[in-house]
Amino acid sequence: MNAANQPFIETHFNHSLPKMEINLSKITHNARKIMEIYGAKGIQVMAVTKGVCGSLEIANLLIDIGIRQLGDSKIENIKQMKDAGVQAEFVLLRTPALSQIEAVTEYADISMQTELVVIDHLSQCAMKNETVKKIILMIELGDLREGIMPDQLAHYLPHIIQLPGIELVGIGANFACFGGVKPDTEKMNTLSALAASIRKQYALPLPIVSGGNSANYNWFSSSEEVGEINHLRIGESILLGRETLSREAIPGLYTDAFTFYSEVIESKVKPSVPYGQIAQNVLGVYPSFDEMGDIRRCILGVGFQDVLVSGLTPLLDLNIMGFSSDHTVLNAKKVDLQVGDAVAFSVNYGALLSIMTSSAVAKEYI
Ligand SMILES: *Cc1c(COP(=O)(O)O)cnc(C)c1O
Repeated sequence: MNAANQPFIETHFNHSLPKMEINLSKITHNARKIMEIYGAKGIQVMAVTKGVCGSLEIANLLIDIGIRQLGDSKIENIKQMKDAGVQAEFVLLRTPALSQIEAVTEYADISMQTELVVIDHLSQCAMKNETVKKIILMIELGDLREGIMPDQLAHYLPHIIQLPGIELVGIGANFACFGGVKPDTEKMNTLSALAASIRKQYALPLPIVSGGNSANYNWFSSSEEVGEINHLRIGESILLGRETLSREAIPGLYTDAFTFYSEVIESKVKPSVPYGQIAQNVLGVYPSFDEMGDIRRCILGVGFQDVLVSGLTPLLDLNIMGFSSDHTVLNAKKVDLQVGDAVAFSVNYGALLSIMTSSAVAKEYI
């Protein structure tokens, strides 16, 4: 085994694998930079923790460097952070289910909302608990996931404004998540104009105008004026250092704060193409493989139950040939990979999300 002179292979006999290695100083650097970049034009950054399943280590470092709001799509993650004493204003990003409203009342300081029946119920729960819950209304601007159609606002707002226990603190829009729609100047101007007209018409301060997520970087960096937009909800740019329209790295940010390691459990020279009669594989597809003669095939002890394998990129010159629920098969090519070696991968957002959610993957903070 000559792992010692290959930087992205480690031999582990007493470490727990698979594992995610999480570099907290790189995330700290990224979060500081993101605050600096957006702060330069008066935009406040809410850090989004759903990609790391509400990790307490990461939540605490974000608060330590001056982030005030943490957003997550799962109330369970918010509860975990709040129960652990993380000192933030917690924002529930996914518009809540009617059945979750009691938990929302208890744990989320602000929630994103689009449905009157849900807001009515939140109002009742807030009254019962003698509290006031802040909400941000999400407006549909074309990506076609959550949001109220702009021409319906006149129907929603008068009702919401008079509800006891509810304080409308902002409006927001989301982009590049479902429909892949860009948050461009036109969309941002539309949101700004809506904010201005709501403030005027209803005499509301409406302090938060939340223009989007990590996909807003290109709009932001190419715009002198940001209009009324004063808030963005940023996950991926802080965690993985990228904007999300074309996944370009943001200059000065780390894209490698997370490294995934998995262990080789079999290493053998075998044919490159399966032999016998071919039917469906475990994914329900008829797989096909290129004929490359005999190759060194290495099996890793992880599969799609643990990680979105398609979101992994090996840090060595290896190919992922395929995977099943608990195995991933590599073409080791010229790398001398042996049983017991740990193979390192960079992750995309999907792989990050799946790994951080998986109880089968150890998390190592460095
Ligand atoms: C996930 C999410 C975000 C954060 O998106 P990133 O691309 O990770 O910055 C922002 N807003 C909403 C509503 C989300 O669901």
